[in-house]
Amino acid sequence: MQAATAGPADPDASTHALDDDATLDGVDLEQLAHRIATPLHAYSASAIRQRIDTLRQALAGLDAGICFAVKANPNLAILQLMAEAGVGADIVSAGELQRSLHAGVPPGRIVFSGVGKSADEITGALSVGIARFNVESLDELHLLQRLAQAQQVVAAAAVRINPDVDAHTHAKISTGKSENKFGVSIDEARCWFAARSMFPNVRLDGLHVHIGSQILDAEPFRLALQRVAVFWRELEQAGHPIASIDVGGGLGVCYRAGVDQPLAVTDYAAAIHEALSGFKGRILLEPGRWLVAEAGVLLTRVIRVKPGVERCFLVLDAAMNDLQRPSLYDAWHDIVPVRADASGSPTTYDIVGPVCETGDTFARGRVLPECVAGDLLLIKATGAYGASMASTYNSRPLAAEVLLDRGRYAVVRRRQHFDEMIAGEQPARHWQTP
Ligand SMILES: *Cc1c(COP(=O)(O)O)cnc(C)c1O
Repeated sequence: MQAATAGPADPDASTHALDDDATLDGVDLEQLAHRIATPLHAYSASAIRQRIDTLRQALAGLDAGICFAVKANPNLAILQLMAEAGVGADIVSAGELQRSLHAGVPPGRIVFSGVGKSADEITGALSVGIARFNVESLDELHLLQRLAQAQQVVAAAAVRINPDVDAHTHAKISTGKSENKFGVSIDEARCWFAARSMFPNVRLDGLHVHIGSQILDAEPFRLALQRVAVFWRELEQAGHPIASIDVGGGLGVCYRAGVDQPLAVTDYAAAIHEALSGFKGRILLEPGRWLVAEAGVLLTRVIRVKPGVERCFLVLDAAMNDLQRPSLYDAWHDIVPVRADASGSPTTYDIVGPVCETGDTFARGRVLPECVAGDLLLIKATGAYGASMASTYNSRPLAAEVLLDRGRYAVVRRRQHFDEMIAGEQPARHWQTP
């Protein structure tokens, strides 16, 4: 499988987590599924560490820091792995802040993004002393000034620039076009810097840009970074020194072997190098997906094979509540049987979950070796935006998550118990008026 996805021109695509389709990070998947009921998210620690190392090597020579986009995979064990590797966190909520701190990420390595930071969230982040706020609106800038003043601190802030660049990705994960809700135009940002003295408790000395996710091509990054670089130079000339440029995340991964051709991380780093040449400050990156997606798989068993009038359905014990990407973005995930002998005759299936929605479909018209009830399947590249987007829809408990590391495994989230699922719910007994 490594040979199939890694061309010589693309050394970075070779960091695939799967040793083959039966083992991941030295752990036999059939045995794992025997011990821990499916559906089950498994992540390779080695593969994540390898990605971190590869990215660091590509960035050698730059004063660059990596802040993992927590929303991609907020499991505490993953965040702890990041913290131990010296990786910071890019957070978008108070919950992600708490998770990051809990996992041992130092506040000085945390940046806070998002269009809807509330006063409480900003106050909480100020009190622990996070590194930087990526500010997305004038209203937020005023709020940050007020709250920082109240705490008698000075908050470091970057303006999130909306560079009006088309990332050529799925519409629901594009964030850098002027019609998207994210960031502000360069014209607006220019006014903020001109009015800097109105914000004595905000050190506005950073620029931030994040144009979208699952970007497979260097060009949108180049364009966005060029626009940011032109603006940075203009600001410096106008007497507004810039200490930090945050280039966001968005690096794409291979979801479909042989089709998706992710941009080599060395080319990505080269684009940053080139666009920001001469920049003396710190460069921040916020990769999410690229660090963890291909390190994870969703293990699931076939509940039954259901012949239909037009199609044959493979009904799995995993569903859209465990992995939303196919139903939400029509995303492709490679799906393969976990079996030494995949000798069954090739059969075409629609691969679906048990949830009562037609959208609960992982794949249509996939050819697999003929399957029977009980067969174990792998849904690949589910380490990012998999468990993190899971829900209990149809009152299905959240699946277990397991971290694998060189032949060993640790349960890092046990399957949710029914009591946990309904915790906080109660009959309407205590009626009140507001
Ligand atoms: C989601 C997000 C990221 C991470 O995006 P990936 O595509 O997972 O790398 C980084 N920065 C911001 C501001 C985000 O919203």
